[in-house]
Amino acid sequence: MIVVMKGTATARETGAVLQTIEGLGFKPHISSGEERTVIGIIGNDRKVESSAFEGLSGVERVIPILKPYKLASREFKQEDTVVEVRGCRIGGRSCVVMAGPCAVETREQVMEAAARVKAAGASILRGGAFKPRTSPYAFQGLGKPGLEILREAADKHDLAVVTEVISVQDIPAVVEYADILQIGARNMQNFNLLEEVGKEGRPVLLKRGMMSTIEELLLSAEYILSKGNYNVILCERGIRTFEKFTRNTYDVSAVPVLKKLSHLPVVCDPSHAAGDRDLVPALARAGIAAGADGLIIEVHPHPEVARCDGAQSLHPDQFDALMKEVAAIARCIGRSI
Ligand code: PEP
Ligand code: MN
Repeated sequence: MIVVMKGTATARETGAVLQTIEGLGFKPHISSGEERTVIGIIGNDRKVESSAFEGLSGVERVIPILKPYKLASREFKQEDTVVEVRGCRIGGRSCVVMAGPCAVETREQVMEAAARVKAAGASILRGGAFKPRTSPYAFQGLGKPGLEILREAADKHDLAVVTEVISVQDIPAVVEYADILQIGARNMQNFNLLEEVGKEGRPVLLKRGMMSTIEELLLSAEYILSKGNYNVILCERGIRTFEKFTRNTYDVSAVPVLKKLSHLPVVCDPSHAAGDRDLVPALARAGIAAGADGLIIEVHPHPEVARCDGAQSLHPDQFDALMKEVAAIARCIGRSI
């Protein structure tokens, strides 16, 4: 349920509503828009009675949220959420590009990747230090030394860092080095991990599970938001279908659907959807054209020797060309990169 305060409500009136919510044993979630404050009351399986709020002064109306996800819904918050990371705004007018290798392999590799993606116009460096691999015998990432390399490369080129956290025990280390915590497709429904990153204030890039619906993605975002972390970025990275030509089927329609249902920023990952670098530029352009707030793209200085996802990683020269193309698409729809 949401309590919509009048535009003229005073801080004291809003405070009284918050106190009533807490007195009833619920957690209030505040969304302060330009015109008015909206307070979300999430009742878990206990019912919240609207009559407890309707008579309070400063309250304009009390509305039930009918969707299963509450804080992630447009009903709770009408304006787009903008997640701010080191001066970069994700969800604003300008689209944001995150790029870098799938995995951190060596210092030289990441330094070179960072220099090239920055020069091409990316603002966030990606790279996995902890890798969730299908095979236990595949390269699992460098761990903490990988985080140090990412931070050094990002600082040198004035980039922010996004990197995956695959277990609760690694959260403190990842928080020490990264600006955005990535929850990978395989962990989208690791509810304990979602709750723990929800307790951190650090922005979260939440990737859609390869077998998850849009509603399940929003419910996973809700786990993070309900713990008080409102800085969540959603990511469409392809889902598993009967089609075998691509690694996953890029669900470009998820972008406008998510933008309609939720206020959270949405980015597209054409690399993991395609699985093939030749397809990445077209899918990246489609994502921006569909209204994505940004892209996350794998770029490797020498993809032929990559220890992870080389086939889908762009050569830096290809990334240069792609950035020009997506910037042109963004301009067509009144945005920029
Ligand atoms: C990644 O970004 O490197 C990754 C493992 O992605 P996903 O979780 O989407 O497979
Ligand atoms: Mn990858």
